[in-house]
Amino acid sequence: MKITILGSTGTIGINTLFVISKLSQKYRIFALTAQSNYKLLFNQIKLYKPTYAVLICSDSAEKLRQLCKKNRIKTKVLCGPKELVYVSSHKDCNCIMSAIVGSAALEPTFHAIKKGKKIFLANKESLIMSGDLLIKNAKKSGSIIIPVDSEHNSILQILLASGLDYKIGDTTYYKENIDEILLTASGGPFLNLPLSKLKNVSPHEAIRHPNWVMGKKISVDSATMMNKGLEVIEANILFGISPKNIKVLVHPQSIIHAMVVFKDGSVISHMSNHDMKVPISFALSYPDRFDLNIEKLDLIKQKNLSFTNVNKKQFKCLDLAYEAIKIGLNAPTILNAANEISVTNFLKNKIKFTDIPVIIEKALESITIRKSKTLDEIIKDDINTREFATELIKRKI
Ligand code: NAD
Ligand code: MG
Repeated sequence: MKITILGSTGTIGINTLFVISKLSQKYRIFALTAQSNYKLLFNQIKLYKPTYAVLICSDSAEKLRQLCKKNRIKTKVLCGPKELVYVSSHKDCNCIMSAIVGSAALEPTFHAIKKGKKIFLANKESLIMSGDLLIKNAKKSGSIIIPVDSEHNSILQILLASGLDYKIGDTTYYKENIDEILLTASGGPFLNLPLSKLKNVSPHEAIRHPNWVMGKKISVDSATMMNKGLEVIEANILFGISPKNIKVLVHPQSIIHAMVVFKDGSVISHMSNHDMKVPISFALSYPDRFDLNIEKLDLIKQKNLSFTNVNKKQFKCLDLAYEAIKIGLNAPTILNAANEISVTNFLKNKIKFTDIPVIIEKALESITIRKSKTLDEIIKDDINTREFATELIKRKI
C-alpha cells in the first residue's frame, strides 16, 4: 500500500510514521506534506524516501529543494494547496492519513474520497464541514473512511468486536442494536478551575493538556471542550447515531475512550493507554491488528476510573455543537469556521478564552443557514463565517 500522509510533521503525522516504521512491509510512503517545517520534513524524507513532498510555504519549499539536491535525494518537492490534492488523489497513491489541522484538510481529503482511496481520518474538521458530501461521495466511490480519532476508533473496535458491520452511511444495522454512544472527555486543563478565573487563562495554560501533547489548535479545543462537541458531530456522521443518543462523560484518567450501550443493557467499553499510536495502528491494520510492541495498559496502576457529567457553564462550546447539529444544514460548517478563527485569535492573545463561545454563538445566529450541496458552497460558507468572526474580533466583539 502506498500512503500519502497529509500533515506528516504534526503530532498525528509523527505517530503515523512511527507506526509505519514498525511495519515497513505493509506501507510505502508515497508523499509527505507539511505547512512550513522543512527541516523536520527533510529528516522524514531521508528516512522514508517518498516520491513527493509538499510544503505550503514557498520559501520553505525552496529550502527543501536545495537540501534534497545537495544530498542527492530524488523526492520531488512541490508547493501549494493544489499539490496536496495532487498527491492525495494520484493514481499511485492507495490511501491517505488525513492529519492536517483544520479546514485546510478538506479539499485533499474530499478529492481522495472521490477517487475511492482508503482514508485514515484524524482531521475531524473536514467531516464536520461537509459531512453529508464526504459520506455521499465515499458511498459512490467505494472509499472506506476509518476514524483515527481515539473515541471513534474505539467505537469502531467495539462494533467489530460485537459482530456489527461498519458501513459508512448505513445506519439501520446500528439502530437495531444500539441505544447510546458514550464519548469520554478528559476535561482538559481547566476542569476544576473556578468559573470566575476562566476569562483570564493564557494560551500557554490552555495548551498544557494534563494527559498528553497535541497540536495547539486541538489542545485549545480540548480546553473549551469544543473538541468533544466536534466529536459528537463526527460520531453522528460516521455511525449515524442520533445526537440525542450520543452522550459525553468527563473521565479525567482517559483510559476508557468510548462506550457503546446496547439495547439489552450491555455496555461495552474500549480501554487503552492514552497514546495515539494505538488508534493509528488499528486504523492502519483494520480489520486485523499489528504487534506494535509498545507499553500495554497496566490496570493495577489505575487506582480509580471516574465518570461525571459535563459542567455546561464551564464548557459552553459543547452545547453549541449540539445546537449546530440540531439546526443542521450548514450550521456545523459555521460552528467549525467560527471556532477556528476564535482559536487562532486566542492563541495570538487577541481575544479572551471566554470570548470563544460568544463568537461562535454570534456566528450561528447571524450567518445564513442554508443547504450547501457542493464543495464550493461549503467553502463559501466557511469563508463567510471567517470574515464575520474576524470582523467581530476587530470590533472587539
Ligand atoms: P499539529 O498541529 O500537531 O499538526 C498539524 C499538521 O498539519 C502539521 O504537519 C502542519 O504542518 C500541517 N498544517 C497546518 N496547517 C496547514 C495548512 N494550512 N496546510 C497544509 N498543512 C498544514 O496537529 P495534530 O495534533 O497532529 O492534529 C491534526 C489533526 O488530527 C487535527 O484535525 C486534530 O483534530 C486531529 N486529531 C489529533 C489528535 C492528537 O492527539 N493530536 C487526536 C485526534 C484527532
Ligand atoms: Mg478525540
